Amino acid sequence: MADPLYDSPKPIVSGLRCRCPRCGQGKLFQGFLKIAPACDRCGLSYAFADPADGPAFFVMTGVGVVIIAIFAWVEIVYRPPIWVPFVTVFPALLFGCLGALRPVKAWLVASQYVHKAEEGRFESVGRHDFDSRRM
Ligand SMILES: [Zn+2]
Repeated sequence: MADPLYDSPKPIVSGLRCRCPRCGQGKLFQGFLKIAPACDRCGLSYAFADPADGPAFFVMTGVGVVIIAIFAWVEIVYRPPIWVPFVTVFPALLFGCLGALRPVKAWLVASQYVHKAEEGRFESVGRHDFDSRRM
């Protein structure tokens, strides 16, 4: 785990509960999808959290594949009238995506915390032009 002082839950557990990845108690979100500045229980700063478009991509892809597969199966087997997909598929896509977006975002933030994922940084060892000075 990322911090030996805390009995951190697994990323999927803290993600599904939308809780702090370190203590598993504090709230991760300030609003529907806005990440709070820090945990209200253990004080962990959420400045590291930057899942970018990852949650939206995974949710749209996953929910879209499942809903469209169900729609295709119903269309082939039952051949419903055209209004049925409009009143079932579109709301299913909308509410499926909205319902899954928050826990998936929390799960990705928790995974970032546990795996210490961040942008790569360049660290100089101070010998970049070592050979050019000799010539
Ligand atoms: Zn916390």
